[in-house]
Amino acid sequence: MISKRVRELAPYKTETTEAKVRLSSNELSLQLPEDVKKRIGEEVSRIPFNRYPDPEARELKEVIALRFGVKPENIVLGNGSDELIYYLSIAVGEFSSGVFCPVPTFSMYSISAQVLGRERIEVRLNEEFDIDLQKSLEVIRKKKPALAYFAYPNNPTGNCFSEEGIRAIRNQGVFTIVDEAYYHYSGKTFLKEALEREDTVVLRTLSKIGMAGLRVGILIGKEEVVKEINKIRLPFNITYPSQVIAVLILRDFYHIIEEAIQTVISERQRVYKEMLKMEGIRVYPSEANFIFFKSLYLSGDELYKRLLRKGVLVRNFSYMVANCLRVSIGEREENDAFLQALHEVLTTS
Ligand SMILES: *Cc1c(COP(=O)(O)O)cnc(C)c1O
Repeated sequence: MISKRVRELAPYKTETTEAKVRLSSNELSLQLPEDVKKRIGEEVSRIPFNRYPDPEARELKEVIALRFGVKPENIVLGNGSDELIYYLSIAVGEFSSGVFCPVPTFSMYSISAQVLGRERIEVRLNEEFDIDLQKSLEVIRKKKPALAYFAYPNNPTGNCFSEEGIRAIRNQGVFTIVDEAYYHYSGKTFLKEALEREDTVVLRTLSKIGMAGLRVGILIGKEEVVKEINKIRLPFNITYPSQVIAVLILRDFYHIIEEAIQTVISERQRVYKEMLKMEGIRVYPSEANFIFFKSLYLSGDELYKRLLRKGVLVRNFSYMVANCLRVSIGEREENDAFLQALHEVLTTS
């Protein structure tokens, strides 16, 4: 007998459409050199698969701590930050209290709340895609949510919310989760506050910096907070191969990742400028590895379909924000294919 709570859930939508150029999931286009792949293969072949992995993933935590400028005691690892979002929605406050987030945003915040039977308290972003502070504070004072999620930068809109807005909401006594999945593309962070305060944590992930397939999410917070969240973590949630491969890449080949990130940042600027020149779309500035844009004459659905017919897959967000789509920044050739296809679609009707 499956609960009503679960039966009423919509299945999580992932992008499985085939296309020559896939710019739909904000992955990092990364070509590892053959010798690096060989090293990875060798390390993987040495894994004793009959054994459980280190339940604490100590080595991985140490490498991540070093790379992110924190201590291993400040870290909880998750099978993707998706899992950490579940843990936070389980651990913070009683289930009778709600979960706040500004919308449109990453859907896992609301899904985790819904699964647990917690009230979802969502307030629409304003015209600039920033937090509608007046309305948010009004609702928060009335509903008293226990926790609030902020994607920073926000997915799918690409901007960072105002820091003051986030702090004003936190000042209402709301446990604040700053999801910095795109930190490497924005450089903006609440890390210092997460390390100093018991009402703030930061989420990071390896997914948007070239390792989405490893499923490694990172929660950073004060040791006291981390200790509590760790109690509900499933014991072996980071697989043996993921631990081994992530350690190797972060320790020995991180320069390759850093270089690819820099390429995406400069490509983002180039693609943005090219899109600004085009008629028929409105482009929004981005601090992430994707660009959000609105179709002005064609419907969003139609633009999406026509791009796909030209072999370019983007993400259609028309169901969330009228006629809006999101394109991930890939390698130069992929971005050129997107720009070319978009130009053709917009100039021939
Ligand atoms: C992609 C994304 C994540 C997912 O991270 P995983 O570590 O792959 O689970 C989390 N938060 C935001 C805002 C994202 O866009």
